[in-house]
Amino acid sequence: MVAPPPAKLSLRGVGKSYGAITALADATLDLAEGEFLTLLGPSGSGKSTLLMIVAGLTQPTAGEVWIDGRLSTYAPPNRRDIGMVFQNYALFPHLTIAENIAFPLRMRGIADTAPEVRRVLDTVQLAHVADRLPKALSGGQQQRIALARCMVYHPSIILMDEPLGALDRQLRDRMQMEIKHLHRRLGITVLYVTHDQEEALAMSDRICLMRDGRIEQIGTPQDLYFRPRTAFVADFLGESNILAGTVATGGQAGVLRADGGLLVQAALAPELRAGQAVKLVLRPENLRLLDPGQDADNTAEGTLAETVFGGGVYRHYVTLAGEVTLAVKQFSDRGLTVPPPGTPVRLGWRRDHTVVLPQPERA
Ligand code: ADP
Repeated sequence: MVAPPPAKLSLRGVGKSYGAITALADATLDLAEGEFLTLLGPSGSGKSTLLMIVAGLTQPTAGEVWIDGRLSTYAPPNRRDIGMVFQNYALFPHLTIAENIAFPLRMRGIADTAPEVRRVLDTVQLAHVADRLPKALSGGQQQRIALARCMVYHPSIILMDEPLGALDRQLRDRMQMEIKHLHRRLGITVLYVTHDQEEALAMSDRICLMRDGRIEQIGTPQDLYFRPRTAFVADFLGESNILAGTVATGGQAGVLRADGGLLVQAALAPELRAGQAVKLVLRPENLRLLDPGQDADNTAEGTLAETVFGGGVYRHYVTLAGEVTLAVKQFSDRGLTVPPPGTPVRLGWRRDHTVVLPQPERA
């Protein structure tokens, strides 16, 4: 049997405390060669702390960090073979672009830097700016140069901390695609930090969602979106309607009793027994306003409270019994007639569109 290749990066029970403050607790994860893993989470959830520990700029108070199969928990940053790209590009303002990129090579005692500099400038498609100063470049171009300067010495892992945070939306979207394409083409291993869920969904092979210094869930973007393990994950990624409920009947043909006077059909995991408290997650894009006479696995009667036009979609807010409001997303269409607020409506959704989370979530 062939042993699996060692992970590029392994964290084992890594933690960091500042006195009574726990910035990071019990972080365990593996980053495979060529993988793009994103640390995602709200501000203060421990993303930067984890990244800084991997970079060697912060020392952990617990656990082990392995890089390329070597125990590196306390190795100094320059012994880690790691590249970093930050939000504030950090290019040297008085050096030309070519000199900026040559800098890390010269630091490593390489005299003939020109061929490598040309190679990475070609990679980021900016060979024509080689002799300019950073200030003559746009924000997006500077960011590409920062990336080129990082790639030029072939680090084992590239860390990126909100690298697109300072860019406007359009440029950000374009840079996301560019970084993604570079990643695919060059097979580089990337640990990326963002608080932007769309960015994480669009770019990552896997997402590590953080909350209060802990890893809440790690998985592919689809795993986290379609199979959230907690209400926090469901709420953080995309939009969710979250209702409290209890299991009325367990099993594949299960029935739940939920807020809003609902009886909901769902295929339930075997461990969910009658009486068990649960949360129900319903994605707005999975709910539909039913036409009269139209049926669905699950239906709910309510009143249309409000409709917001968002260009490509309408977002309807439907009030059920007990002041429960559900958001419903519907693709817009020029010919679509939207009923006015106050209209009685029926909602429908498929049984497999009800995500059921046992409560309480954490021991
Ligand atoms: P994120 O990058 O997700 O915004 P951080 O890793 O920066 O989160 O911070 C996690 C938590 O640790 C926060 O509550 C923050 O206030 C705390 N923290 C980070 N650095 C320090 C420090 N040097 N001293 C005290 N607390 C810190």
